[in-house]
Amino acid sequence: MSSIEFITSWGEKIPIFINVRRGLRNITLRPRAGDNRRIDISRPWVASNATAMKFVEQKRRWLEHFFMNAPKKSHLKSGDIFRFLDKDVIVVYDESIRANKFVLNDDGNYTLYVGGDIRLLESRVRNFVKSELLKEIKILIRRTPREFWPRRICLRDTSSRWGSCSTTGTMSFSWRLAFAPYDVMRYVVMHELSHVKHMDHSPEFWVQVRELYGFGVERAKRWLNQNGATLHQIL
Ligand SMILES: [Zn+2]
Repeated sequence: MSSIEFITSWGEKIPIFINVRRGLRNITLRPRAGDNRRIDISRPWVASNATAMKFVEQKRRWLEHFFMNAPKKSHLKSGDIFRFLDKDVIVVYDESIRANKFVLNDDGNYTLYVGGDIRLLESRVRNFVKSELLKEIKILIRRTPREFWPRRICLRDTSSRWGSCSTTGTMSFSWRLAFAPYDVMRYVVMHELSHVKHMDHSPEFWVQVRELYGFGVERAKRWLNQNGATLHQIL
């Protein structure tokens, strides 16, 4: 077991394993994705562990980019709870039911009953989350003046962008916004709607965002910067 760790900016601790190899000239880093995320380092005999760790720090951005794009998926099981737009949703697998059932419980949280082939549990939950998010986004957009409405809305699984707006009138959102707080998702939607009028990030653009979103734009932006990566770890 490794006692050295690489701690990402989102707080994930990734174990580091150092190998000393004779005849090696340079330190090499090998991040590994999958269920057991780790970083393998090979270092020459002459370099110290401290030097190797310094090298890891120099490569921090690259390593974080790697792990962010190869998100660790926590595999969903019956009984697990995930956070969906400010709601706690407990997933219950029940072989006998055909269509998903989404039920509001007495405590204000929700139960999502999923049936069918157990191997499809995750993809069924994912599809449910996507369709619910799309509904929410459409509701939000319909509350804004018509001149902001996009021609088409689609959901994507991109790790680099939360939303985008094309000149042809298609607006895309990351479906993983479903796991963000509702207001953060709303911020991304209002951000993209504002691009209908301003294709840049000029001061006029931000005035528009504030007009559509209201108070708290900075807070929503900060949340995404600090926690965005965690949204990729679910499902
Ligand atoms: Zn933008």
